[in-house]
Amino acid sequence: MNIPMQNSRYRSVSSFFRFLFTACLLMSVHGLASAGDSGTVRAMVIDGQNNHQWRVTTPIMVKALMSTGKFSVDVTTSPGKGEDMSGWNPDFSGYDVIISNYNGDLWPESVRQHFTQFVSDGGGLVIVHAANNSFREWGEYNRMIGLGGWGGRTEEDGPYVYFTDCCLVRDGTPGRGGSHGRQHEFQIQIRDARHPITRGMPLMWLHTRDELYDRLRGPAENMDILATAWSDPTTGGTGRHEPIMMTLNYGKGRIFHTPMGHADYSMRCVGFVTVLQRGAEWAATGNVSIDIPDNFPTSLETKSIE
Ligand code: ZN
Repeated sequence: MNIPMQNSRYRSVSSFFRFLFTACLLMSVHGLASAGDSGTVRAMVIDGQNNHQWRVTTPIMVKALMSTGKFSVDVTTSPGKGEDMSGWNPDFSGYDVIISNYNGDLWPESVRQHFTQFVSDGGGLVIVHAANNSFREWGEYNRMIGLGGWGGRTEEDGPYVYFTDCCLVRDGTPGRGGSHGRQHEFQIQIRDARHPITRGMPLMWLHTRDELYDRLRGPAENMDILATAWSDPTTGGTGRHEPIMMTLNYGKGRIFHTPMGHADYSMRCVGFVTVLQRGAEWAATGNVSIDIPDNFPTSLETKSIE
């Protein structure tokens, strides 16, 4: 009479442990695949060399990420320009996303290998402003960023990519890669409103004063343009709609690239802050849970954080 009861109890204990085991397994697999065990996105910012004021701009980006409560952020600072880099070998393995605020000397081969491995294995990467000036000579990096400027880039590095009033153009015309007109406020036009980064964003919003990079060129493989900005000839621009928010895939990795972010006043734009937060979360996890704030810029009015 008791045997069925015992069996039944045994079965229920057994299935409870099976459930526990499966749950732990799923959690650990999830932990490996995306964010840390706590759900926190582990971010690393790389700086140390830049023809921009990285000592000013890195803290703005760190604060922007930390203010969401969704990130932990470390910063690795390379040796200065022309200095020996052989002792600098950041360990990327504990991170979900790398944010590059770096434009300078070519990294040592071991760092480049680890970086390439990190992204191709599924790590996230965010490229901000002059980080896309870096490393013309490093082919894999240019595949990750899609488009770059300066550093001697020409038609040999890939096409110009931009929108005309009708179409997306890949333009192989010979010429330099990378230039910009006078700094000014300019409108960001969303081209893909269904992407997690742009979903719910006003389709046109006014960015604070910044350099509007134009004539970027590169391999532009596996690249989607989420937003553009009209590069107005009256401010020294190209008369093209230049890419201003791009996503790319490299191996299993996700990359978010924005040419915005020349200076502190450019990065204090609520639009830039939101784009950085959501771009970094997407690059790390493939999803976005960070809201668009109520004080987001409108098509005619910029908004800045304190
Ligand atoms: Zn700049």
